[in-house]
Amino acid sequence: MAATLALDEPVGRVRLVSPGRARALEGLGIRTVRDLVSHYPRRYIDLSRKETVASAAIGQQCTVEGAVHEIKLKRPKPRLSLVELSVVDGTGVLVVTCFRQPWLMDQVKPGMRIAVAGKLEFNYGFKRMTNPYLEVLGDEQAAEGMIIPVHPACEKVSPAWMRRLVGNALAACTGMYDPLPLELRAKYRLMSRQRALMSIHFPQSAAEAAEARRRLVYEELLLLEIMLMREERGRAQGCTPTAHIVDGPRVRALAAALPFELTDEQKAARDEILGQLADPRAANHLLLGDVGTGKTVVAAFALAAAADTGSQALFMVPTEVLARQHGASLGPLLDAAGISWEVLTGSTPASERAALAERTAAGEVDVMIGTHALLEDDVAPPRLSLVVVDEQQRFGVEQRARLLAKGGAPDALYLTATPIPRSLALALYGGLTLSYIRRRPHGAARRTTSVHRKTERGRAYDAARAALKRGEQVYVVCPLVGKDAEERDEKAGATRRREPDEEAYEYAAISIEDESDLLGDDAAAAKREAASLQGGVFADWRVELLHGRMGSHEKQQAMRRFREGEAQVLVATTVIEVGIDVPNATVMIVEDADRFGLAQLHQLRGRVGRGGKPAEVHLVSASRSEVALARLTAMERTDDGFELAEYDLSLRREGDILGNRQHGASALKLVNVVRDSAFIEAAHADAAALLEADPALVMPAHRALAREARRAFPDDRAVEGG
Ligand code: ADP
Ligand code: MG
Repeated sequence: MAATLALDEPVGRVRLVSPGRARALEGLGIRTVRDLVSHYPRRYIDLSRKETVASAAIGQQCTVEGAVHEIKLKRPKPRLSLVELSVVDGTGVLVVTCFRQPWLMDQVKPGMRIAVAGKLEFNYGFKRMTNPYLEVLGDEQAAEGMIIPVHPACEKVSPAWMRRLVGNALAACTGMYDPLPLELRAKYRLMSRQRALMSIHFPQSAAEAAEARRRLVYEELLLLEIMLMREERGRAQGCTPTAHIVDGPRVRALAAALPFELTDEQKAARDEILGQLADPRAANHLLLGDVGTGKTVVAAFALAAAADTGSQALFMVPTEVLARQHGASLGPLLDAAGISWEVLTGSTPASERAALAERTAAGEVDVMIGTHALLEDDVAPPRLSLVVVDEQQRFGVEQRARLLAKGGAPDALYLTATPIPRSLALALYGGLTLSYIRRRPHGAARRTTSVHRKTERGRAYDAARAALKRGEQVYVVCPLVGKDAEERDEKAGATRRREPDEEAYEYAAISIEDESDLLGDDAAAAKREAASLQGGVFADWRVELLHGRMGSHEKQQAMRRFREGEAQVLVATTVIEVGIDVPNATVMIVEDADRFGLAQLHQLRGRVGRGGKPAEVHLVSASRSEVALARLTAMERTDDGFELAEYDLSLRREGDILGNRQHGASALKLVNVVRDSAFIEAAHADAAALLEADPALVMPAHRALAREARRAFPDDRAVEGG
């Protein structure tokens, strides 16, 4: 009898996992027995939902059983093989096509009984299935009441092999301990871990699989929340956080210097933030507000509180353009409030940089606004009590951690326009406190969005020209930069440091995989576009070009010309996505809009409608994909970023939602933040209660949990002890 396997043993210990297969599994990220048993099925095939050829409905998923009449191998192209077989039952003929599975010719012979499960189509006079699940039935065996798991597989390990290997692993891991305290299992009526793993891989019914999933989702979430909360507690260990003075002279002077009155939501957010800063514990606060809701000025109050406290603040932003803009917009307010500030970016000249570093080290700079350049070692404020991270979703965990590490236990304030539903925020950040700003200061509903096919983009230009005639300004956004710009940049060599996030980037959790999205025309290249627009549609106005690969001086000049109205049209790549503020710009045209994620489009459209005037957004797409177009029409339907985010999240498959920029995300295999939002709240509360009662998780009932949290997140320093 084989000894019971431990979950953390190498996967090669599982029966039938040869060294070759172990290597193939490693390619799927499976190294340990644990990895293998948590390699969950992507879907299930329910062989019990059987239909005859005649009764099977077109467009439905179903299983059909019958005898193979004919089987043929075809090679329509040199590198493409397809096996075509006809299956007959008493009621008709089903044509089955299997791409790239030539081995079926050896396994399936005329006369054999098989079951095929898949989506029924109708084409060229026959009911058909393409690449169905296919099972050869034995003499007696009929496919009845069987639910077949389909695991993510690879070339070397087929779904059928994956099933066997997972089954072997489970069979060897008997007597698994259960990390969930009994009390919590009872509270939510959760099955044991062993049973849940069996049931999610090999359920007898859909209900059983769902119950198993429920248990495993809860476990994932509880472990994640525990990890996040302990990490946060660990951050402040051995240091004394600052209880800020939040009603000092600079805070009051700032309030007096504002050129407008804060909205009620801004006031509420400001008070919540100041409350957190005043608290002697290290704050970790997320300010969520759609683009244009006025988060910056709210953050300024936190900066003022740090200055009143006699300590320093770092304000990190993702792009140079944004750093300069904050300098330009916040600077005068900070000056008026008697707060000293500086801007530091990757293109600050070395001599200036050295001088800034020196003054910061001497404690002479209250607020340092900057890009990733702030992360370098020469930025060393001696009394750092606050870090503010703008557009925080554009920074990785490590970058945020590095910034925090410049002080003892500074308070952290994160700003984001990514409309993260509360459940997702909790899932990602555990012990965070949150403030939301939902309305823009200038009132909502002044912005309309319309989707146009490429052939109808003339309408967008008409709208743009009408706005230009009114003296307003226009953005044209293109997804890619012209080829020659890249080449020129490469020739220029590494003389200029590029901020890592300035390049067009994949939005952390936003892009939706849909192959048809990748087809279609070539992306409109900003450069070509600018030239052709200048020569044609916008010949009467001045067109300016802005993209991430331009030098920083060039960029600043281009932005300045647009902001000051010297240029009326700005053709840009997604550099403008973040934070650019030109209130006179009222029309935005987005080319190839289907190539952007919804959240990114929403960020983009936040660039217009910032002044008092109504704004229009025109999304142009050449895509023929229905999915892509349906996504875009969601932009037409709602102007509310939070609603859009929920819609976007609901489209996703589980596991796609948490971008890999967030740590812990990889340990969440089953959680869906929309569907499981109630569970997220529950796990959050449970984790907080557990840690309140037993911070180091040393009580007997919690030891297994502590051990498990450590194993689920092996890279996290903070989850130690226990
Ligand atoms: P975001 O939340 O996208 O960072 P900003 O902080 O850039 O938004 O603010 C957008 C614009 O709204 C800025 O021009 C800012 O000066 C202005 N603004 C902010 N708060 C108010 C307010 N209460 N009343 C009027 N304008 C405001
Ligand atoms: Mg902003």
